[in-house]
Order: sequence, then C-alpha cells, then structure tokens
Amino acid sequence: MKRCVYIHIPFCESICSYCDFCKMFYNEKIVNSYLCILEKEIKKKYQNDFIKSIYIGGGSPTCLSIEQLKKLFSIIKIFKKEPNMSFTIEGNFENITEEKLALFKENNVNRLSFGIESIDEKNLAFLERNNDLTKIRKIINLAKELSFDINVDLMYALPTEDMATLNKDLDFIESLNIEHCSTYSLIIEDHTKLKIKNTKNISEDLDFLMYQNICKRMQKNGYIHYEISNFCKEGHQSIHNLCYWKNEEYYGFGLGASSYLSMKRMTNTKSINNYLKENFADYEEILSLDDEIDYEIILNLRLKEGLSLTNFFQKYGLELKEVFNYEPLLSDDLIVLEKDRLFISEEKWYISNEIIRRFLEGRVKWLKQ
Ligand code: SF4
Repeated sequence: MKRCVYIHIPFCESICSYCDFCKMFYNEKIVNSYLCILEKEIKKKYQNDFIKSIYIGGGSPTCLSIEQLKKLFSIIKIFKKEPNMSFTIEGNFENITEEKLALFKENNVNRLSFGIESIDEKNLAFLERNNDLTKIRKIINLAKELSFDINVDLMYALPTEDMATLNKDLDFIESLNIEHCSTYSLIIEDHTKLKIKNTKNISEDLDFLMYQNICKRMQKNGYIHYEISNFCKEGHQSIHNLCYWKNEEYYGFGLGASSYLSMKRMTNTKSINNYLKENFADYEEILSLDDEIDYEIILNLRLKEGLSLTNFFQKYGLELKEVFNYEPLLSDDLIVLEKDRLFISEEKWYISNEIIRRFLEGRVKWLKQ
C-alpha cells in the first residue's frame, strides 16, 4: 500500500481567535533553522517507499519567503513519488502571490487549499481574520489558469452568524466554482482566544439547520457530498484525506505532526525548542489489532462509500460480522448494507458519532494482539 506524507509548517503572520493548531508567529531565522531540521527529520525517518500524496499544511505555509519555499521544495525531492501524485499546499490569501503560485506549479504542486471561512465582516472580526474579496477572486482565477485543483474551507455555526450570512458565504463560494469545499462547524477549543473570552456555541438545533442548508445548497450546485463535512465535483475528492479516512498509513513530519506506520500512531513534539534540538518524538501509541479494527470502522464510516466488506476481509482475514454484531443497527435503519458496502446514509450523518459508538459496542470478538 502506498503511503502519504504530511509536512507541517507551523508559522503564521497573525493568529486567529479559534485556532488550536500547532502554530507560532513567523520569524525568518526560526523558519530557516526549522527547514534544516525538517530535512534531517525526513532523512532520518523516511523509508524510501513510493508516495501517493504530499500535503504541506500549517500554520500558513505561504507566509514563507520565495527562498524558504525553494528550500522546502528541494527537501521534498527526497521522496520517491508515484506518477500522478497528489501534491497539496495550504495557501493564505494574505501572503500568496503570483510568484509563489508559479513556483508551486514549477515544483509539481497540483492542488491548493485555502481558508476563506467567511466573507461576512462580523464573522471575520470574530475569527480575527481578514478577507479581501478582490484578491481572493484574482488568486483563484490565476490558480485556475495554472490548472490547480482548488479547495476552500468554510466555517459555520459562529455566534455572530445567522442563516442569511451563511447563505452569503455559500453564494460567494459557489461563485468561485472551485473543485472542493471543506466545511467546519465552529468548535471552541481549549487554549484559544475564544475559550479565554468564554465564548459560547450556538444551539445544536441551529447548528444542525446550518449543516442541512450547506448540504442542500452544495448538492444543488453539483457537488458530491462524499464525506460528512466535505464536498467535491466529480473526480475531485481529496486523495490525501481519503488516505486518513480509509485508515491507510502516512508519515507526518514537522512540529506536532502525527504519523501512522506499522501499527503505531506517533506524534511529534509541539515544542519548537525540542524540535530544533532534534528531539522529535512526543508520544507513540502501539496499536493492537482490535485498535486497528476500531479505527477502520470509525474512519471509513465517515465516507459516503462507507466500509467495503471485501477490503475488510482482505486486510484482516475476518468477516466483519465475525467481529461485530451490527444487525441491530441495520434493523434500526442506522446503517445500510448494499452489496459489499456498509455505510451510514447521508441523512443520518449528523448523528454519526452516536451510530459509530453503538457499532463499536456491538463487538463480539476480540483479537488482542
Ligand atoms: S487558523 Fe490557520 S492562519 Fe489562523 S492562526 Fe491558525 S494556522 Fe494560522
């Protein structure tokens, strides 16, 4: 099975109120040192296998200078790449330029992922972000001319938002006519500015209505709802995220990055001081076969296509029904079995956590390896 690679670039020019990602303010000297250590980490851990997707995320990778981005691309040459490899970089409209887009193209990046989140002024003030709509349109048009696949992120369920503002955000995203849209309901995470200010979430009922509205509008506009929170035009799923959702193996390099390799889930340190001293590891979890199988269920059931019973058998040498009694969920219409596919139907996705919890509780066989 081919692996994917995630590379974390934890630098940003400003810090958003909701952000709990591993990030820090851009500092030229620290970035230069970081890139040298990143190269060492990759050389130390990469097992010289073929890679089917690279994703450079952050942080805000596009806040790096042209020279720093060139250094990053020279590091990435280490990897043996599959033909047609998916290669994504996260972009921020505040610091992306025509020159950076051209550099991405030269280095075989073929997908860009941008956080728009909202275009409403009140929402943006709440999120402590800026959006210049003219610049967004200009960059998106340039990216299309250069044939990049484009994803944008949309955030909803903000306390400053109502259905009318959400509809304006959706109008704008639809007008861009891009290939992919990832949506996120606001979560107020610990250690964020929002948490410190004691911000409260909107009601679950309104959150659900907003989610329904997004699903309805995206589908009306020709997008396939292929994962609980993700929409794409035909043939434009995120290869990289599918690797996570299908429980496949991946490398994670950089500050705070996670890897999943040979039955181990490993997370790097979030301390820049430790990372720069090449003390990469934070913790690792050695998975039993039972843990692996739980991840297989939890992740695959997020997808419209669900879990393939044949794949499950090929991977674990067991029939799914030997391990779980999922008959009660079928009788309650909470999951659907269609030929080889077991899935949660779209209208039940909003309660998928509860369904998956019940699924796992139906375990009848433990393997304990
Ligand atoms: S949300 Fe993105 S751009 Fe904003 S602070 Fe976090 S990593 Fe940086």
